[in-house]
Amino acid sequence: MINPPFFFVVDDDAVTRLMLCRFLEQLGYVTQGLVNGKEAVAALDESLPDLILMDAKMPVMDGFEALSIMKKRADTKNIPVLMITGLNDDESVDQAYAAGAADFITKPIHWAILRNRVRYLLKDVEAERQLYLASTVFNNTAEGIVVTDSQGFIQSVNPAFSDITGYGADEVLGNNMNKVSSGRHSKSFYKKFWESLVVTGRWQGEFWNRRKDGSTFPQWVTISAVRGADGKCTNYVGVFSDLSTLKETEANLLYLSGHDTLTDLPNRHLFQERLALALTESKERDGRVGVMLLDLDRFKVVNETLGHDKGDQLLVRVGRRLVKCLSQPATLGRMGGDEFGVILPRLNHSQEAAHIAQEMLESLKKPFSIDGEDMEFFVGASIGIGLAPLDGEDVKTLLKSTDAAMYHAKEQGRNNYQFYRNDLNTASMARMLMESSLRSALDKEEFLLYFQPQMDVKTGNLIGAEALIRWQHPLQGMIMPGEFISLAEETGLIVPMGEWALRSACKQMRRWNKAGLPSVRVAVNLSGIQFKQPDFTELVLKVISETGVEHRWLELELTESIAMGDVEETFTKLVQLSESNIQLAIDDFGTGFSSLSYLKRFPIGTLKIDRSFVRNCTQDLEDAALVRAIIGLAHSLGVSVIAEGVEEKEQLAFLRDHGCNEIQGYLYSRPLPAKEFATFMKNNPVMKDEE
Ligand code: C2E
Ligand code: CA
Ligand code: CA
Repeated sequence: MINPPFFFVVDDDAVTRLMLCRFLEQLGYVTQGLVNGKEAVAALDESLPDLILMDAKMPVMDGFEALSIMKKRADTKNIPVLMITGLNDDESVDQAYAAGAADFITKPIHWAILRNRVRYLLKDVEAERQLYLASTVFNNTAEGIVVTDSQGFIQSVNPAFSDITGYGADEVLGNNMNKVSSGRHSKSFYKKFWESLVVTGRWQGEFWNRRKDGSTFPQWVTISAVRGADGKCTNYVGVFSDLSTLKETEANLLYLSGHDTLTDLPNRHLFQERLALALTESKERDGRVGVMLLDLDRFKVVNETLGHDKGDQLLVRVGRRLVKCLSQPATLGRMGGDEFGVILPRLNHSQEAAHIAQEMLESLKKPFSIDGEDMEFFVGASIGIGLAPLDGEDVKTLLKSTDAAMYHAKEQGRNNYQFYRNDLNTASMARMLMESSLRSALDKEEFLLYFQPQMDVKTGNLIGAEALIRWQHPLQGMIMPGEFISLAEETGLIVPMGEWALRSACKQMRRWNKAGLPSVRVAVNLSGIQFKQPDFTELVLKVISETGVEHRWLELELTESIAMGDVEETFTKLVQLSESNIQLAIDDFGTGFSSLSYLKRFPIGTLKIDRSFVRNCTQDLEDAALVRAIIGLAHSLGVSVIAEGVEEKEQLAFLRDHGCNEIQGYLYSRPLPAKEFATFMKNNPVMKDEE
């Protein structure tokens, strides 16, 4: 039974027969091809297969007839037969079952279905094989194994047990374990021993036993309780290893504990275990997992020219650099040879993986020095990136995809990373380019502010402007903020960029002032990330005093997201700002955190109704109701309302009728460069300063 499962493949069509045989052989089975039912029946006299795959329709003798002959023979009637029928051939399917077929599969053959049906039909055969394998281990292992019942009476021992103790199986079976005990352990030792066994089901430690000849010897013992379906202990299994041979098994234990002895990183075994865990967890929360395989590019040369010791040293140093590029909960493992693996169990965006890959490549760029060598060494790496569930939902498939990506990286000329999916490579490339040009955009002074007028609904006078950032890219032309704000937020660039916008807006206000234009309120957009900076209020006050604008002309547009997180801190900051006479507005109102309670607490002066509600307020009844409700709510709290994105007269009329205070939108003006906004100011009546 140790042989792999054996199949008859009976089909008159040579191509199908060969393909079936090849497929099964790839699964590790042994096959014999036969051309019709008659041959199959004859072959049963030579050897009995574990399973038969048989075409229903064949010349000479068809599958049904062959099956009915088999069913009559005592030695063959229990061999499962998987019948192959034509697609939509219900009659054959019925006939196959009637003749006693275990299952059927249709042509053309769907290989995954075939694999599963075969495995299912073989499950009894497999179980027997497993048992056989287990018993082989039992008989051939160097460790002594004892199985006792729950009372400690010996039920079975393996040959190694006899070798170690000198007792033959027949001498100890039925005896209690204390027959081999040395008498060297104290009562309290046994007490602890039993406590551990009962509570944890396991005990491990050094144990002195007595041989048949009376000599005592130390052993490393692991005892595990075997529990029945009801949870009660039915047996104990003890595994004894001679302490003198422990050195050998230590390597094994280390392997099982999962660490690579050279680099001390998780080995392939543990890596795969962790990956499996990450995949299960990510499925539960519908998340993504990233895997990377990193292969060193010129390692073999180093290894061959300097020898393995120095090669090993290099691997250790590489591992140390790589691990520095990662943070919790990522895992770096050594997959073997010069291949490392990375697990990113909680990936939010594929680009995160790209960043880490890039960082790892960077970290390897500095040369390595090796003890006793004057030369410095350079190693590059090729990195493949796979993402679950996109590129595979199980460990095997995912690693296969990642491996393919790694080879792709090698083909790309090494020292680069590649995603398994090509569209991600293109997207990642574009993003990296965008990112690096965004980083230098501030220094190169490529940002601009545009100003969009804000009008009073009742009088039609100009009240102020919203400052909106633009990126004048040297190659791509004008880029709108929608395309780079989120990238700036992810990379943290939003902080200096936002500071720039604030300072520029203030400087511009001063310039208009000096040119003799009336003062108007200017609103500056803020990202939640900027607002969360600990020194945010100080920064705003500093910029105001440096540029010399009056506090009351500056308005900060915050999003509802600031109401999340540390509410006390938010509150303190808002109060500080408002006490300094800086105006505060809530932007995109209605799209974010939909709790109104903060409106009551926070010193907010203005609510901006989001463009998406304004757009349909004259057509969509729900949006109309929402806009009315927002205005009513704001007014009841003493907060002014501005509607943004007003494009049509009808929208203006609706908003005016419902008491909206201010309007911003293409109906009056698009955002304008500073110069044109100055012209707009000259040509439109400006709201009189009330103070
Ligand atoms: P936002 O704060 O909601 O800004 C209003 C957006 O609506 C602006 O888009 C503006 O040009 C557009 N808009 C104004 N009136 C109309 C209209 O009648 N119809 C239509 N269809 N659109 C109109 P823009 O300039 O592309 O800005 C997009 C977003 O980028 C802004 O949305 C804001 O969230 C962000 N942003 C812009 N500048 C900055 C900045 O300096 N810092 C930060 N953190 N974010 C900024
Ligand atoms: Ca805004
Ligand atoms: Ca807005």
